[in-house]
Amino acid sequence: MIELQNAVPLAPLTTLRLGGPAMRFVTVTDARQLAEACLSVWADDAPWMALGGGSNVVVSDDGFEGTVIHIDSRGIDQLEPGPGDAPGTVRVRAQAGEPWDALVEYAVANGLSGIEALSGIPGSCGASPVQNIGAYGQEIASVLVGVEFLDSETGELQWLTAAELDFGYRTSALKRGRDGVVVSIDLRLVRAGTDQRALGQPIEYSQLADALRVELGDRVALAAVREAVLRVRGSKGMVLNDADPDSVSAGSFFTNPIVGESFARTLPSDAPRWVTEEPATPDAPETYSVKLSAAWLIEHAGLGRGFSLPGSHAAISGKHTLALVNRGGATASQVAELARFIQWRVMSEFGVNLAPEPVFVGFGSDED
Ligand SMILES: Cc1cc2nc3c(=O)[nH]c(=O)nc-3n(C[C@H](O)[C@H](O)[C@H](O)COP(=O)(O)OP(=O)(O)OC[C@H]3O[C@@H](n4cnc5c(N)ncnc54)[C@H](O)[C@@H]3O)c2cc1C
Repeated sequence: MIELQNAVPLAPLTTLRLGGPAMRFVTVTDARQLAEACLSVWADDAPWMALGGGSNVVVSDDGFEGTVIHIDSRGIDQLEPGPGDAPGTVRVRAQAGEPWDALVEYAVANGLSGIEALSGIPGSCGASPVQNIGAYGQEIASVLVGVEFLDSETGELQWLTAAELDFGYRTSALKRGRDGVVVSIDLRLVRAGTDQRALGQPIEYSQLADALRVELGDRVALAAVREAVLRVRGSKGMVLNDADPDSVSAGSFFTNPIVGESFARTLPSDAPRWVTEEPATPDAPETYSVKLSAAWLIEHAGLGRGFSLPGSHAAISGKHTLALVNRGGATASQVAELARFIQWRVMSEFGVNLAPEPVFVGFGSDED
């Protein structure tokens, strides 16, 4: 029997440490409870949301007028190989509430490669496909086989393949509104050896190659990759750390904008850009599109690290231009106001729209 609590503060359950309460709230600790809670909450046809590690949400100061299902179901298992599992690969299943970084640690310790560059990303395994988490040249889309998904429309547990999740850069069908909860995720990892000395995937990100003092394309021991990623992320406040005020954030607050190549040519020649396969906009397909650096645009719109609006406790991180941090006592409105100000400055200076990466909860306005 699921017991709902009333008026539960959400701020302590988010990495930005702000926002109001959930009107109703339940924590589930295994897949059976998760299904039971979902079916009972969905029967009411009232607002609800899933919450994992709270590392990609901005909860409004008024909180959430609905039921929060807080998913804390843990577990990592190696499965028997299935159809399509090539020799030398291993299928790993993680329950939705398992912390993502615990899964990376498990993979590295067991000589399984494919997610080592995703070390240190906060949050849960269940949320990892939602925005197709990625960092340092890897993203979950490359290793995800599929997810067990409880569909809120039908109440049925189904299997969604990676193709059905329709991944893009920091997005998926789930982020675009496919309603339901991820119960577990299956990854296909490469058996690189029997322990963490086994070599990982080729290094594909120059900052990581520099940190490891290797060339792009070189392969390095899994444990060394993990250690270097954690070190680089730590230097940017991108690993949760109680001793680092710059880690009180939701990670990168804006995605890198993707624009058409003709528009990109109008930007200053020193603006970093990378050719991408993503469509510039769904209704205006271009021959190719270009990913810009949101951090460069913000800095060159005159907003540097540590920037804050007068009287506000929300600021741009002192270590990473893309992260907005709660300096202590910030409100969600202050974070949203700072985000809008940054968007306005970048739009005025470069004509580029910066899209927020986190999910806004309970704002009931443009942010929602
Ligand atoms: C310091 C820091 C660094 C970060 N670095 C990165 C990075 O390098 N790369 C990157 O991609 N992201 C990064 N992030 C963002 C964040 O960690 C990821 O998006 C993460 O996957 C969010 O997981 P979560 O469990 O905290 O999700 P939550 O914040 O709890 O939820 C996010 C969204 O997912 C939904 N959701 C949660 N669980 C489920 C579920 N089981 N089923 C369906 N929907 C669900 C929620 O309803 C919400 O819409 C960073 C965040 C922080 C704070």
